Amino acid sequence: MQCIYCGIAEATTRDHVPPKSLFPKPRPSDLITVPCCEDCRHGQSLDDEYFTRMVAMRRDVGGHPAASQVLKSVHRSFAKPNKWRFNQALLESVSEIEVLTPAGLYLGQATTCRVSLDRLCRVIKRTTLGLYFAEFGVRLPDNHGCKVYALDGFDRTDPGLTARLKRVIGYASQGKLRVFGDEVFMCFAREVRDATVWIHLVYGRVGFLAITRPLDA
Ligand SMILES: [Zn+2]
Repeated sequence: MQCIYCGIAEATTRDHVPPKSLFPKPRPSDLITVPCCEDCRHGQSLDDEYFTRMVAMRRDVGGHPAASQVLKSVHRSFAKPNKWRFNQALLESVSEIEVLTPAGLYLGQATTCRVSLDRLCRVIKRTTLGLYFAEFGVRLPDNHGCKVYALDGFDRTDPGLTARLKRVIGYASQGKLRVFGDEVFMCFAREVRDATVWIHLVYGRVGFLAITRPLDA
């Protein structure tokens, strides 16, 4: 069997979707695992860590019990020397300014970080591919693409864009709902012809839109 991510190498291991780092221990037993190759799995672990930190540090997810538990272990891991370089880079990006640009994720009024949306979206893309496989029993075909958008990354001052976004979200949220853990990760999925539309919600607050469809469409 091929790796469901790259579609090239043989699948010799399994990957958790959604990323298990989002869940406090003991982790829920209903996480999905999908077949993938070692390279794809290892390449992703730093992205997962980044994702969890960035999302759990958001002030508006502070009320979610899972977020605060995960946050505690994030703080603990800041002290680990082998993570120094990674943490240093993270801390350097911490600033007191509000960030709300297409390239940044708004993190509330307190201490904020500049966030790489690309990196967050990469994690959600992988999760979408994994859930796609779980749903349909096949990997996303090679001639299809998967695009992910952070809902906070959209320019809300553009009324046309906001209206289109609302329509898409409304459409997807009538689809199939899956909930992982104590609402740590929720996902709506809906098929529309040969496309699929997904809304992923992390800690009940941080939302992403994912769309898979044929590349030439
Ligand atoms: Zn692979």
